[in-house]
Amino acid sequence: MHFEFATATRIIFGPGRLREIGTIANEFGSRALVVTGRDSSRAEKLLAHLQSNGISPVTFTVRGEPELVAIEQETKVAKVERCEFVIGFGGGSALDAAKAIAAMLANDGELLDYVEIVGRGQTLKKRSVPFIAIPTTAGTGSEVTRNAVLASPEHKLKVSLRSPLMLARVAVVDPELTCDLPPALTASTGLDALTQLIEPYVGSRANPMTDGLCVEGIRRAARSLRAAFGDGQNKSARENMAIASLFGGLALANAGLGAVHGFAGPMGGMFSNAPHGAICAALLPQVMNANIQALRQRAPDSEALRRYDKVAQLLIGKVSATADDGVEWVRHLAGDLKIPRLGTYGIKSEHVAELVKKSMQASSMKANPIALTPEELAETLRLAL
Ligand SMILES: [Zn+2]
Repeated sequence: MHFEFATATRIIFGPGRLREIGTIANEFGSRALVVTGRDSSRAEKLLAHLQSNGISPVTFTVRGEPELVAIEQETKVAKVERCEFVIGFGGGSALDAAKAIAAMLANDGELLDYVEIVGRGQTLKKRSVPFIAIPTTAGTGSEVTRNAVLASPEHKLKVSLRSPLMLARVAVVDPELTCDLPPALTASTGLDALTQLIEPYVGSRANPMTDGLCVEGIRRAARSLRAAFGDGQNKSARENMAIASLFGGLALANAGLGAVHGFAGPMGGMFSNAPHGAICAALLPQVMNANIQALRQRAPDSEALRRYDKVAQLLIGKVSATADDGVEWVRHLAGDLKIPRLGTYGIKSEHVAELVKKSMQASSMKANPIALTPEELAETLRLAL
C-alpha cells in the first residue's frame, strides 16, 4: 500500500469563526488581496474584521468561472498594490482564483508557463504567497485542494493549475457563512460535495486515510442535504454539509475522483453557463449505475462493488442496502432537490461524441473504479440529458 496525504497547514472549523480572521491574517502582513464571488457585499464583515486589525484590503470580484486573462491581470494589480497575502472568500470560483493568484505572486513568468493543456505545463517552483481560503458554499472543498480550475474561453476548455505548493496556509470553514445560500445553490453544491465523497471512496486511488473521511462525510451529507435545502437556517444541517464538503475536498485532493468529474471538466468548458455542481448532480446517479453494471460484467470480484454496497448503507442507514438501492436513493435525492437535467444547459445528443472523447483524456477519469468503454460513457451521458 502506498499513499500520501497533504492538506492546508491549518484548518479552522466552527460556526462564527470568521470573526477570528483579523488575528489569523495578521501573521501574514498588513496588505491583503481579497478575492470574492459575484456578490461582494457578502464580504463586508470580513473586510471590517481585517480593517479593525490594521490590515488594508484590495478587493477583486470574480464573476463566474475565473478566466486565465483575469488571473494574469489581477496578479499584476496585486503586485503594484504590494499585497503580501491573498484571501479567497466565496464558492469554488473565488477560492480557485485566489489560489491561482497566490501562486503567480510567488512564481516568475506568466500563467501560461504553468497551466496544463493550453499552456506549457511547467511545475511551479515556489510555494505560493500565504493564501487563506474561506468557503461560503458547502460544495467544492477547494479550501483544501491543490489545484485551481480556470477557464480558457477561446479554447472552450477548463484547465488546471496544480501543485502541492498551492495548498492554503489556513482554511477557515465557518458553516454560518452558508446559511443564506439559496436552495438551488445548496442543492447543486451539496450534491457536488456528495459526489466528491463517493468518487474517491469507490475509486482506484482510495486509501485508508481518505476512506475514513469519505465514510463520515457521506453519512453526514445523507443526513443533512435535504434538511439544508428545505431550511437554509437549519444550523446543524449547514454544519454537517460544511464538514461533508471539507472532507470531500480532503479526499479528492489525495485520492482523485472518477467519471462524474471526468465528464464535468470538458462539459464546463464547452457549456460555461452550466455550473459545476449542477453538472455533477445530474450525472451522479447515472455514473454510479454505469460503474456498477460494468464492474458486475467485467470485474465481479472487485472491491469497488463491495464499496458501492457500503455507500448505499451509509446513504440509506440500513445494513441490508445494496449498490442498486444506493443509485435509486441518489436518483430520488436529485429529483427532490429539483436538479435540472443537462439538456437545460443546451447539452444535446449531438454533443455526446465530443464530450466522450474529451472526457476520456480527463485526469479524473483515470481514478474511476473501472475503465468505461466509449459506448458506456456515451450511454451514461445520454441518460442525463
Ligand atoms: Zn466537483
